Amino acid sequence: MYSPSPSSVLTDLLAAVRSTRQNHAWEHATLHVLGGRGQIRQTSGLSDPSGFTLFGEMLVEDVDQAVADAQAAINEGRRGLAIHPDCGTNLVVQALLSVLVMQLLGRAGRGFSVARFTAGLLSMTALSMAAKVLGPRLQTVTTLADLRDREVTEVYALRVFGKPAVRVSVGARM
Ligand SMILES: [Zn+2]
Repeated sequence: MYSPSPSSVLTDLLAAVRSTRQNHAWEHATLHVLGGRGQIRQTSGLSDPSGFTLFGEMLVEDVDQAVADAQAAINEGRRGLAIHPDCGTNLVVQALLSVLVMQLLGRAGRGFSVARFTAGLLSMTALSMAAKVLGPRLQTVTTLADLRDREVTEVYALRVFGKPAVRVSVGARM
């Protein structure tokens, strides 16, 4: 019976993390290219170890071209394309910070007071600003702007929960 050694499980896990970070960078860069060409509106994406999915109305041919151009741009060193302002990472950062502040305010005292209400409002504003700064910084962890060892295997349209989407399958470059 085959039983994987702990070290091979770790190797597989690290490889999956690496390819997800690469696909995440690629997804952001593709969204930047499509957005710059006016070929998408209100689109979001989701990356996984074997590729990424873009949600919204768009043409497969446009995505196909944008994916190739995004890879070339990233590999030429345009790493800024890997960072996207609408990334889910930013939302997670904002949510975590909000919970933290609510906890702190909750501990500061009980009951409603104008002072606490104002403090809460001010902290929420400060939070949004902090999340704007921290979110993109964290994206340098959740993305990896080096796509030289990756290649597209397939780009196709699909529907996710009845909504249009385009899937980009990615594999290791042979
Ligand atoms: Zn993202």
